[in-house]
Amino acid sequence: MSAEKLSFQAEVSRLLDIVVNSLYSEKEIFLRELVSNASDACDKLRYLALTKGELLGDDAAFAITLTTDAKARTLTISDNGIGMDRDELIANLGTIARSGTAAFVGELSGDAKKDTNLIGQFGVGFYSAYMVAEKVEVLTRKAGEEAAWLWTSDGRGDFTIQQSEKAGRGTLITLHLREGSEEYLEADRLRQIVKRYSDHIAIPIRLVEGDKTETLNRASALWTRSKSEITPEEYKEFYHHAAHAFDEPWETLHWQAEGLISYTGLLFVPGSRPFDLFHPERKSRVKLYVRRVFITDDCQELVPEYLRFLRGVVDSEDLPLNVSREMLQASPVVQKIRQGIVKRVLGELQKKAEKEPEAYSGFWENFGPVLKEGLYSEHGSDREQLLKLARFRSSNGDGLVSLADYAGRMKEGQDTIFYITGEDAAALLESPQLEGFRAKGVEVLLLTDPIDEFWIPSVVEYEGHKFKSVTRGGTDLAKVKGAEKSDAEKKEEADSKDDVGSLVALMQLALKDEVKDVRASERLTDSAVCLVADEGDMDMHLERLLRQHKQ
Ligand code: ADP
Ligand code: MG
Repeated sequence: MSAEKLSFQAEVSRLLDIVVNSLYSEKEIFLRELVSNASDACDKLRYLALTKGELLGDDAAFAITLTTDAKARTLTISDNGIGMDRDELIANLGTIARSGTAAFVGELSGDAKKDTNLIGQFGVGFYSAYMVAEKVEVLTRKAGEEAAWLWTSDGRGDFTIQQSEKAGRGTLITLHLREGSEEYLEADRLRQIVKRYSDHIAIPIRLVEGDKTETLNRASALWTRSKSEITPEEYKEFYHHAAHAFDEPWETLHWQAEGLISYTGLLFVPGSRPFDLFHPERKSRVKLYVRRVFITDDCQELVPEYLRFLRGVVDSEDLPLNVSREMLQASPVVQKIRQGIVKRVLGELQKKAEKEPEAYSGFWENFGPVLKEGLYSEHGSDREQLLKLARFRSSNGDGLVSLADYAGRMKEGQDTIFYITGEDAAALLESPQLEGFRAKGVEVLLLTDPIDEFWIPSVVEYEGHKFKSVTRGGTDLAKVKGAEKSDAEKKEEADSKDDVGSLVALMQLALKDEVKDVRASERLTDSAVCLVADEGDMDMHLERLLRQHKQ
């Protein structure tokens, strides 16, 4: 059959340009990427075969195989995983389907040096093969199908696809190595790379030399090993594979729960904020395994939304292997695991907050706005704990403060936690509404996340102290000690009260269609007037937010 020529999506071409011309020094990571894909492909098929055993045929032992041909200068990576049909091949290796890669392209600057640095941060998946290969062939056959397809490209603008033949299912990738990349023909070098990046892969990675076959990795699931035997490097590589992320994990949690339900959790808090954290479709991607068999990375019941930044795996001993998506939704086992995860993660964050406040601030900058969603969605002890974990900017200074800090600094007679909401902390500090508070040394929290408008009304108070917006009427500063007036001030006030009274009456008349009321207030020291919301009305910032979203 004749070959069909297709163009890469423009973004892919841009990406390939950089990969091909890349000065990135760690070219060896291409092998990590291809092995990672092969392992994912095996995981996917193993799961499908739970209900469709015939997909495995007589080839039930998953493996990833490396072979080299010095004469032809080729390295091949093959797997007996799920394979791809024609449409999948075009979609997966011709467009940008993967979120990490999309982010990479979005960040491209055109400056070769900067762009090359980004390769290491984002990882470019399959396309990284072009760092070492001038031509790549992908021969693949989907499990359960007869037709095989051959994808070929030199990574410049287009690729060809043609129908082909392949003995078994899975994918065989042939790299025609570039001049200067001969090292990837050497067994020692391949051993070294697999050990470095892919030892944790749970499927055997074999190197075939002539009639000799050698397994290069440990081939046991990393999370089943005991913590003391796992190095930080190994955890990091596992995180890169499991999360499709390329930063350093900020925190690694690895634990075994035994008792009524048994499971192993290996979860990571990423070191940087994934760019799509606030994307409406953004979901948790913690992978669920049942007794070492990958089940899904789309079990939304496993992790609450406000912890959706977590990555990693949970491996249950109690769920049945043939668990369906519907069963997962209603499963009490999943609910129990979820509670366990929440307890573990929040407890660990609490420890970090106490022991390493600076590192915790960094975490909070990245994920605080997400955790705050839990203040809104959760009740009871989880909410209590989240309130303890929450950090805020305040009128007091630069750093982040906790509610306990705030409460500890409350003035005598103050029983309220004052806050102001808006988009930008610096701008909030300039608000006239803050003047009276500042003059009396009363701290005000500066809330700048949209979610703040939603959790405050549902949380209402912290340890008996009500939250109150300074942009609302009826904010009673006079009760605060130190805010009491001297006799001279009181007299002056009484004198001016009449004047103010008539001014207010005038303004009420002039603005009667614009505002609900005009009142004399204690909250200003320098400014003449400011806008406030009435006690029972919507907060001003919320009103503005909703108006922006045309609610
Ligand atoms: P990612 O692995 O993050 O999705 P990649 O660029 O590494 O991104 O791969 C793109 C897609 O190509 C994969 O999601 C997968 O669907 C498909 N793919 C790549 N390699 C294989 C393989 N060996 N077997 C089956 N599918 C593969
Ligand atoms: Mg990949």
